Amino acid sequence: MDYKRLVDTYEHIQSATKRLEKTKILSEFLKQTDPTDIESIVLLMQGKIFPSWDDRKTGVATRLVTKAIAKSLGYTDAAIEAEWKRTGDLGVVTENLTTQKKQVTLFSKKLSVNNVISNIRKMSALEGPGSIDRKVALIAELLTSASPDEARYIIRTVLEELRVGIGEGILRDAIVWAFFGDDVKIQYDPAEKSIEPENREVYNKYVDAVQSAYDILNDFAAVAKIAKEQGVAGLTALDLQSGKPVKVMLFQKAINIANAFERVGRPCAVEFKYDGFRMQIHKSVGKILVFTRRLEEVTSQFPEVVEFVKSHVAGDSFILDAEAVGFDPKSRKYLPFQSISQRIKRKYDVEQMSKEFPVEVNVFDLLYHDNKTLIKRPFKARREILERIVTQVPQKIVLARQVVTDNDSAAEQFYQDALKAGEEGVMFKNLDAEYRPGSRVGFGVKVKPTMQSLDLVIVGAEWGEGKRSGWLTSFVLACKDSDTGAFIEIGRVGTGFKELASEDGVTFDEMTNLLKPLIVEEKGRVVRVKPHIVVEISYEEIQKSPSYSSGYALRFPRLARLREMERSPEDISTLEEVENLYSTQRSR
Ligand code: AMP
Repeated sequence: MDYKRLVDTYEHIQSATKRLEKTKILSEFLKQTDPTDIESIVLLMQGKIFPSWDDRKTGVATRLVTKAIAKSLGYTDAAIEAEWKRTGDLGVVTENLTTQKKQVTLFSKKLSVNNVISNIRKMSALEGPGSIDRKVALIAELLTSASPDEARYIIRTVLEELRVGIGEGILRDAIVWAFFGDDVKIQYDPAEKSIEPENREVYNKYVDAVQSAYDILNDFAAVAKIAKEQGVAGLTALDLQSGKPVKVMLFQKAINIANAFERVGRPCAVEFKYDGFRMQIHKSVGKILVFTRRLEEVTSQFPEVVEFVKSHVAGDSFILDAEAVGFDPKSRKYLPFQSISQRIKRKYDVEQMSKEFPVEVNVFDLLYHDNKTLIKRPFKARREILERIVTQVPQKIVLARQVVTDNDSAAEQFYQDALKAGEEGVMFKNLDAEYRPGSRVGFGVKVKPTMQSLDLVIVGAEWGEGKRSGWLTSFVLACKDSDTGAFIEIGRVGTGFKELASEDGVTFDEMTNLLKPLIVEEKGRVVRVKPHIVVEISYEEIQKSPSYSSGYALRFPRLARLREMERSPEDISTLEEVENLYSTQRSR
């Protein structure tokens, strides 16, 4: 397909104001897409080059992009930078300059969707000396053939800043409408908030099929292709595979123990909530693979985990869900998450690191065992199998400590035990619930003693003044609109950070180093950054406020911790959750 058609659809969707209108435009477009193009199109629609489970990165900083624009359009780097400063948007800069230039030169060739995605993909394989020049050349090659509007979207895609407004909700519904819409005869009125399918039950079945397929594959591009080529039967036949990471199930927050019971039912399982990081451990054809909660593969960073999972878990194939907790090898005391976070990043001296900062694996769920998917089986049955197949050895691999109870005081006692042991709190889990990858369905809830908190992404910041002038010191926070995928502002935080590296915690210096490469726009002291860094923010109360686009603001926000390793901007707190928290806090 010509890239131009995709660009026209971007514009069309962007100009639509209502969710249903956007869904309709997208579904019509998907309907007309060839099977050979559909995967590229669905990725590009989300501003992606690779599905989110694939950890290849294009590794393109804004400096490199300004160079590419300068090269292809025949300007100096300085001229491009000046324009960028003036307009604040490199996409627009490229579009304007392309318009001027294209008046004198001719188009060389038409760009196809696959040209665009494959050039950008090629960049991820380039490393080392000369790679910058080759990346610049790949972008410049696209820009040379691009029309002005195409150029704008190419640059935005390269910078991961597409902003067309298609989130998971819209995409899922558009796939249903495109490929199964005729079956359920959807009545669509753009003025309405929701649609009325002729048969609501069948319609919901299709929505569920698309959603479950997405939870397993973690990639709407693959889901759309299967829906188009094989229909619902293809989607429902999908199964987990050991060796292929699957989204982890997420948990909701309960206010206290009584509320936790109310939400998951009695009796339920109560487990220690360990303060480490999530590990999804696979065994597939004799090999152990370790993934983080963001599904990045970290097997080579954890040789000791590979060893003891191999020798202490029975079965030819399996997928374990677990929490890895660091402990001090001398005192044998458990350590907070921060002290072992470096093990995830470090790719050298891993043997040494595993001796200095060893981890214990606390297994709490089993998704797959000996070629059988277990996610539809009740939690208690999965736990039973775990008890049979894991040979527990403390400080190597153990099962999460658990009691099954229907009694408030027994649960309270267990909660106190968890806190005394230095754990974060407890998890309450419904004994009969299935495992729903990727969703926060409330089959499990957590109880923690800390104030309420939200996981938010940083979208902007401000340079400090005086002795803090080299640092970014105030951070703009956003939650997520799950329909459009947009990040909507909900406040600012400047407390909870440390000035000196010698103090425990996250320093302004660290924050500045993390955010500086993500800056996309700078005006005076204020910068806008790519939404990558996720933080857990505690607060006293949520208030209604016109100051932020979400319509809410946080009272006394404070950094609880950096979530960089564990949480991707795709699964931060949603506006819906904020609204729910706002209303529960009022009814209390
Ligand atoms: P939170 O990160 O506060 O949303 O809490 C959920 C996280 O707690 C999970 O993603 C796990 O990484 C971690 N966790 C620790 N212990 C358990 C447990 N027993 N069951 C489930 N999750 C646990």
